[in-house]
Amino acid sequence: MSDDTLQDTSAAGVERLPLRTPTLLPATHTNSYFVGRRDFYLVEPSSPYGPEQARLHDLIEGRVERGHRLLGVIATHHHPDHVGGAGAVCERFGVPLMAHARTRDKLAGRVTVHRLLDESETGLGAPVGLDLAVLHTPGHAPGHLCLHERTAGWMIVGDMLSSLSTIVIDPDDDGDMDDYVAQLRRMASLAPTTLFPAHGDPVADGVAALGAYVAHREAREEKVRRAVGGGADTLAAVVARAYDDAPVWLWPIAAKSARAHLERLRRRGKITKTGDTTRARWRPTEDET
Ligand SMILES: [Zn+2]
Ligand SMILES: [Zn+2]
Repeated sequence: MSDDTLQDTSAAGVERLPLRTPTLLPATHTNSYFVGRRDFYLVEPSSPYGPEQARLHDLIEGRVERGHRLLGVIATHHHPDHVGGAGAVCERFGVPLMAHARTRDKLAGRVTVHRLLDESETGLGAPVGLDLAVLHTPGHAPGHLCLHERTAGWMIVGDMLSSLSTIVIDPDDDGDMDDYVAQLRRMASLAPTTLFPAHGDPVADGVAALGAYVAHREAREEKVRRAVGGGADTLAAVVARAYDDAPVWLWPIAAKSARAHLERLRRRGKITKTGDTTRARWRPTEDET
């Protein structure tokens, strides 16, 4: 969608605006969300590109002219395709950027976070007429936040799930597969209705989608375990076997998640590692051979 009208994806106080960003293919855009029935927050101040920021600012101005106030900007996590427009929009409208402390730490020196959010936050929803809970969902990023509207059931899920591709878990950027899978399960246990991801269209059945994501991760991890069991002892060899269903151009990205799976298997005592991170050798433990 490229027109300048917000796509009203729900009557429940959330509207989506995809903006072009420097993100990972196959995604080309990051969704910004306007959250609130009258006064509102902007979630994901995503785009660093001037024309995209101008579209966003025009839409905010339009709401402000109708008497609705922008109360703040919320970043789900620190990745550049999520915070590329944060400085510009906060300065233009004189509002705070809100994020988790771990996101603030990751952005230190580049983007200023003015107010911290965590799960103890109880006052976010009332000013915008919604029942909002903040969820801290590390795994993809250590400070990752989701927003759950508990009455309507929808959830803004950032990069925990995408309707375009699987999510990269990069151990070099504090990604953690244990945390990620645990948080997907926790999100499913809250029985969300519609999921609003940062990349791609909304997902109608949140519980089913999160369940499918967990199942996909477990299946991939089993392929990684079997690759090591079958003699693949380097990261490259593991990727070639465990991601044989993915195009070769994706393998450098898949290698990040493969390492996260290998570390998870190691922590569970399924495999052992010798050597340093990128040149490590992986082998099955005795009782796994
Ligand atoms: Zn991300
Ligand atoms: Zn992203």
